[in-house]
Amino acid sequence: MIHRALTHNEALEALRGFLKERSSYDVFPVSFRLIVLDTQLKVKKALDVMLLYGVVSAPLWNTSTAKFAGMFTVQDVIHLIQYYYHTSSWEGAAADVEQFRLHSIRDIEKALSVPPPPLLSVHPLRPLYDACRYLIRTHARRLPLIDKDTQTGGEVVISVLTQYRVLKFIAMNCRDITQYLTASVQELGIGTYVSKNDDPSNDNPYYPLATATMQTTVFDVAHMFSEQGISAVPIVDDQGKVLNLYETVDVITLVRNGAYTALDLNVSQALKQRSVDFAGVVTCSPKDSLSAIFSLIRIRRVHRLVVVAGQDDPQPGRLVGVISLSDIMRALIGHDIPLGGAGVGAKGVDKAL
Ligand code: ATP
Repeated sequence: MIHRALTHNEALEALRGFLKERSSYDVFPVSFRLIVLDTQLKVKKALDVMLLYGVVSAPLWNTSTAKFAGMFTVQDVIHLIQYYYHTSSWEGAAADVEQFRLHSIRDIEKALSVPPPPLLSVHPLRPLYDACRYLIRTHARRLPLIDKDTQTGGEVVISVLTQYRVLKFIAMNCRDITQYLTASVQELGIGTYVSKNDDPSNDNPYYPLATATMQTTVFDVAHMFSEQGISAVPIVDDQGKVLNLYETVDVITLVRNGAYTALDLNVSQALKQRSVDFAGVVTCSPKDSLSAIFSLIRIRRVHRLVVVAGQDDPQPGRLVGVISLSDIMRALIGHDIPLGGAGVGAKGVDKAL
């Protein structure tokens, strides 16, 4: 319990101290469900399972080696879509997806020349602070927690730590600290903001933000996701007012609904297929404090925030920026802290981490 007012930096230090004293286990409830997909499973089946259990990613398990084999995520589905767009007819694509097995996803990445996602993992008993640094350092959106079975020595997938879970955990448990994060998000430089574009060959009025309109096709949006490594684009009208947000998970819904062949739908049509439990677009103003952002995270399902101009602006609702969960994590943990210590592992890719 904090008994005196803290400065913004003291509050950050207190949060880091909190994370150093907790492990990834603390973030999870005593009992939770984990969906693990066998690499032999067909993509179509995997998508059905994910839809059934309401998850957008799952760890992969290779039964023949009895080892964790990476993650199946929404980014993989985006890659599948792009692969089919380039190599097959729409009709062929739908039929192929039925037959495709999860272990072949990495071949698609090779064909598209996208780097395969590294086989990252962390031991669940490592301090949560280290796991957070690892999430930031590796730009991973999720970190599988892998333990060893003491009897067989084999790997056990415990769960997956996400930025969402960590930030929700902080928001729920550290209210007495986050209340002192009084500086505004724009002042702190948290997020990506519309700024002056000095590149004459780039006519994007929202530079450097990627945006779309209701008329943009889903395929073009999927291309932005993959090319720019982002998970959402604000949908704006011709005045720059934010109308909605299109996210990578929305593409999954389309694919699950069998609309693999209908990615030439425009955003307006695609949004009509959005799941009924869509949590809504969470917006904030550039003047909102980081403390206010944590209050939103506490009460809503926040996966990112769209920053819009407030009522005091000549154009209220105008797109100003985007704040992703990784932006908030970086603001809490810091940017480039060297990593070290056993138990945090990047297998087979960057051994130096
Ligand atoms: P996720 O949202 O999947 O958890 P993330 O937190 O890394 O992942 P991304 O949306 O992939 O979020 O954002 C990565 C970086 O790109 C962040 O710094 C964010 O501010 C920026 N960003 C997010 N959306 C856009 C966009 N539409 N245009 C430009 N930059 C963006």
